[in-house]
Amino acid sequence: MADTLPAEIQNLIELCQTAKKNAHCPYSKFRVGASLLTKDGKVFSGCNVENASYTLGLCAERCAIFKAVSEGYKEFRAMAVGSDVKDHFLAPCGACRQVMHEERRRTIYMYRYHDNSHTGQV
Ligand SMILES: [Zn+2]
Repeated sequence: MADTLPAEIQNLIELCQTAKKNAHCPYSKFRVGASLLTKDGKVFSGCNVENASYTLGLCAERCAIFKAVSEGYKEFRAMAVGSDVKDHFLAPCGACRQVMHEERRRTIYMYRYHDNSHTGQV
């Protein structure tokens, strides 16, 4: 199914899987990577970064968004999110959805099994 996606989206999916490798998740062992495509084609990636004080950690989605905004990018076209989950798509948490909503970003969220065979949108 991924072969039918535009090349830039396929690339975005690949980059989120690469970003996942940098996840700092010593507590949950749940790696997540996200890649965000800006309106003008630049990509920002992020991973989950955990902390012993749980609420100080950051999800991969917000990591990518905050990196982009901190570099002056505020308009986005798509985001890819990947994890090690095999049996279903990964959905963003409430905090990430709030950030996405509040910034009124026109973003397509795509999720992928780790075997590269499926994508989806929410
Ligand atoms: Zn989140």
